[in-house]
Amino acid sequence: MTQEELFKVLVAHCKEYGFIFPSSEIYDGLGAVYDYGQMGSELKNNIKNYWWAAMTRLNTNIVGIDSCIFMHPRIWEASGHVGAFNDPLIDNKDSKKRYRADVLIEDYIAKLEEKNNKEVEKGRRKFGESFDEEKFRQTNPNCVRNNEKMEQVRKRMADALNANDLKELRQIIIDCEISCPISGTKNWTDVRQFNLMFATQMGSVDGEANTIYLRPETAQGIFVNYLNVQKTGRMKIPFGIAQIGKAFRNEIVARQFIFRMREFEQMEMQFFIKPGTELDWFAKWKENRMAWHVNLGMGAENYRFHDHDKLAHYANAATDIEFNFPFGFKELEGIHSRTDFDLGNHQKFSGKKIQYFDPESGENYTPYVVETSIGVDRMVLAVLSHALREETLENGETRVVMAIPAPLAPVKVAVLPLVKKDGLPEVAQKIMNMLKFDFNCQYDEKDSIGKRYRRQDAIGTPFCVTIDHDTLEDGAVTVRYRDTMTQERVKIEDLPALIHKEVDLSVLLRNL
Ligand code: ATP
Repeated sequence: MTQEELFKVLVAHCKEYGFIFPSSEIYDGLGAVYDYGQMGSELKNNIKNYWWAAMTRLNTNIVGIDSCIFMHPRIWEASGHVGAFNDPLIDNKDSKKRYRADVLIEDYIAKLEEKNNKEVEKGRRKFGESFDEEKFRQTNPNCVRNNEKMEQVRKRMADALNANDLKELRQIIIDCEISCPISGTKNWTDVRQFNLMFATQMGSVDGEANTIYLRPETAQGIFVNYLNVQKTGRMKIPFGIAQIGKAFRNEIVARQFIFRMREFEQMEMQFFIKPGTELDWFAKWKENRMAWHVNLGMGAENYRFHDHDKLAHYANAATDIEFNFPFGFKELEGIHSRTDFDLGNHQKFSGKKIQYFDPESGENYTPYVVETSIGVDRMVLAVLSHALREETLENGETRVVMAIPAPLAPVKVAVLPLVKKDGLPEVAQKIMNMLKFDFNCQYDEKDSIGKRYRRQDAIGTPFCVTIDHDTLEDGAVTVRYRDTMTQERVKIEDLPALIHKEVDLSVLLRNL
């Protein structure tokens, strides 16, 4: 299967097995809005629990809060979102399709990268064992030309974005001869800025209403509660505040399933530090967050850092953790050194003093901030796209299996009586009652045992427990493992310990 085909299969699979549905589907859906079904919401909760525990339980100096989506409109002026939370958009006059100018240029760069990869593969086939990839990339004339072009376009785009030069952005598109993927033409409009915040009205009387925004990030809810938490929690710098919550962005180009949504969820942590220490903390959080990802066992080679050429209006260092999605390496998480931009501006805009008194040095200062920010939905997509595989078995049959890391799996155990009679369902129910307090279990007695195993594979259940006639004699059951499909006989009373050591969140946390 090509990666593109795999992605299509994944979207269909997510719907068929209750992970993710298009929102408002019976009304033909709503652009870039998705609902989580019975499996998806379990997976999402498990991801959130892993993040929340890693932040607030493993770090004694990080606490969690839950602030509101609605906030005072001045907050978004202070944060810079009213003035600068824009995307540069461009329309193709023939297809009438709208694009983000920077994304069109990034796609162009990705195509050049793709061309180089193809050259490398050709070289590898030609030179066999003696092939030196790095040297090849540096000396092959086509690769050298593409590298220079990529470097030049990247630099031009970063300069144009930093200078907010929309004419230059359009010129890059023209100079690179980028055409619309739909119409195939290069008939482009000017580039315009588009604010991504959703606005609504608060107050019941028309006219007296105030414009307020749906938050485009959860971070500001943390900044405006900095003083509350620091004082009531008697927090000493360095310390962090973590939060999980919904965010809303009126994305121009919403595509790639749950990768870019208009309503999504973020897990953000703001770490408050002494000015001057930010680059050390930035490096520590980069390492810490990468370890959190790699700990899931989805392959260290599937992650990479991408340092930003264009820094956001608030940052003095920034990097993305990119994941190898079916459509290439793309941002999964951002780590930003935000200086005192946010607290400083809230101090200015609110007129309230937002400072920290350092009891050791006797100094007062506005803390600096390093933040880590990850989209829950992108994390769900990373897990699902990595997990989905179609395997051909020894007997020639195929099976679709979701090899979700066991602690994140929506259902941990399926309890399956071999037949619907002879007292087996009763024993199965007893086992359900024993396990349900610790694990999310599913009971299934319909269809052949083979079909039931397949259904559990498709939702990623790590353990199937089968009760057969021997169980009535020996008090043991057959445990079947999802990934290897191997089976073993286990005493009923040994089940909880066996399952615990694979699926418990604490197992993941201990490895961090
Ligand atoms: P992108 O460049 O992809 O638009 P961003 O740099 O604007 O993302 P941040 O503002 O750094 O993203 O947001 C932090 C995290 O929130 C991202 O790493 C991503 O995981 C998630 N996120 C941002 N926008 C969306 C969205 N529209 N849908 C789903 N997740 C998102």
